[in-house]
Amino acid sequence: MPDPVLIKALRCAACGRLDPGPRDLCEACHSPDLEPTELPGDGALVSWTTIRRAPTRFKGQAPYVIAVVDLESGLRLTGRIAGDPDRLRLALPLRATGEHDGAYLFTERTT
Ligand SMILES: [Zn+2]
Repeated sequence: MPDPVLIKALRCAACGRLDPGPRDLCEACHSPDLEPTELPGDGALVSWTTIRRAPTRFKGQAPYVIAVVDLESGLRLTGRIAGDPDRLRLALPLRATGEHDGAYLFTERTT
């Protein structure tokens, strides 16, 4: 499978909350002390939808899958899923393997 990539995120220095960013204040404690961090891109599929009629900006890319992924570090983020949409199921193990138009691309994790 493709090489894994790390997820760029923010970690609140005050309370430890992780956030996909960009953000100026921590959502939990409103601290401005958010530090850039990188997280392993292993996670699990929470929900997904297949985009068949793409907005103008993404025209020519449809169909593609937008998904919510829970990383093992506890961060929840939105990304895209590579591969066959028919294989998708709840809690499918995923790994971040790239970036596409500012979103992380996830691939089914087989190891
Ligand atoms: Zn905080």
